[in-house]
Amino acid sequence: MIDFNNIKTAFADKSDTDLQRAYLLFKSMSNPRLSKALTGLSQFALKLHLPIKPIIKATVYKQFCGGETIEESQTTIDKLWESKIGTILDFSAEGKESVADFNRALAQTLASIEKAAISDSIPFSVFKPTGLCKFSLLEKINNNTPLSTSDEKEKQEYEARVNAICKLAYDKNVAVFIDAEESWIQDAIDSIAEEMMQKYNTKKALIYNTIQLYRNDRVTYLNSILERSENKFFVGLKLVRGAYHEQEIARAKSKNYPCPVHTIKANTDKDYNTALKTCIQNIDRVSVCAGTHNENSAQILANLLEEHGLSKNDDRIYFSQLLGMSDHISYNLSKADYNVSKYVPYGPIKDVMPYLIRRAEENTSIAGQMGRELTNIIAEKQRRKNA
Ligand SMILES: Cc1cc2nc3c(=O)[nH]c(=O)nc-3n(C[C@H](O)[C@H](O)[C@H](O)COP(=O)(O)OP(=O)(O)OC[C@H]3O[C@@H](n4cnc5c(N)ncnc54)[C@H](O)[C@@H]3O)c2cc1C
Repeated sequence: MIDFNNIKTAFADKSDTDLQRAYLLFKSMSNPRLSKALTGLSQFALKLHLPIKPIIKATVYKQFCGGETIEESQTTIDKLWESKIGTILDFSAEGKESVADFNRALAQTLASIEKAAISDSIPFSVFKPTGLCKFSLLEKINNNTPLSTSDEKEKQEYEARVNAICKLAYDKNVAVFIDAEESWIQDAIDSIAEEMMQKYNTKKALIYNTIQLYRNDRVTYLNSILERSENKFFVGLKLVRGAYHEQEIARAKSKNYPCPVHTIKANTDKDYNTALKTCIQNIDRVSVCAGTHNENSAQILANLLEEHGLSKNDDRIYFSQLLGMSDHISYNLSKADYNVSKYVPYGPIKDVMPYLIRRAEENTSIAGQMGRELTNIIAEKQRRKNA
């Protein structure tokens, strides 16, 4: 059994100041009203160009982000690597809609692949499809809506951006994750992800699609991609539960279609753990990254490795968490010699705000998770006081 309760290991590289900052942050986020007020206020102040960037940068940004640029994230990369935790540089500017923004996200992703190619401490790169084209375009592709001439041109540009990333990943032998998004654009994402796998996963899995197991059709999807890939290409998969649960339920309700996600948490958990099992059973042609903050799922994957006689540091199997969250999982897994990495979001403060707000909302709304972060921080503060 992995000892996730070892908080000394979990916070070994955090100073007392780091701990106090984390304590105040998670404490404020645990209060939904305060959290909402603070995020609203920050956005408003940024819009008015009030000088609050230094405050954001020293608090919530410092907890959850590496820096404004790849170079600025180096301190975080090095610090994680001292505990043998790899970094996944995630350019987190979200909700952008101009060609200049798409090309900027492309350039950042290519730069992160170049950086990964020369750094042992960076095992993967990542991109979000909506960073590379308009959300509405993906919706049209998803629904087979006839495309206008300008849509068609945008689609070709988007596909060229995705291909440029995957080709560089292939040329540099760097694995790249394609993040999963809302269900109403996900078929379009799955389709290009699979195309890229066919093209570039010829010798091993370098292109990873993401499966959200809160969806009630994803175990079926997993089995179908395994069937389609047999003797054709290697499959790379990041398994997550999914970040848009409330939006999925609300949209299905308002548009009156069957809800695509589980509404009972235990069913999401069951599908997540089934997917872990299926991936390990097919490990000769699947590479898997468990993107989770759930201790039980992390333990299940560790047990599966043992049952299947796989080495803890088999490079086809990774655990991954987000920077600033669930250090008790990341650091204890790494100490036990498993492959661990953290998403390290980076980018200009105002562009990263939607990501930070999601973290604040997630930490407010998910029962259990929030409590665990705070409990651990309080316990570690107490342990240091008594030491
Ligand atoms: C490395 C990494 C990469 C990620 N990449 C992506 C990505 O590409 N796309 C994406 O969408 N998310 C992504 N995420 C976010 C991820 O989906 C959330 O962190 C995750 O949902 C939190 O779940 P958990 O596995 O940590 O476990 P838990 O904290 O045990 O589970 C919480 C999750 O369970 C689900 N859930 C909650 N309530 C219910 C309910 N009533 N019924 C059914 N299900 C419920 C929701 O998905 C919720 O987020 C990523 C996370 C990590 C760590």
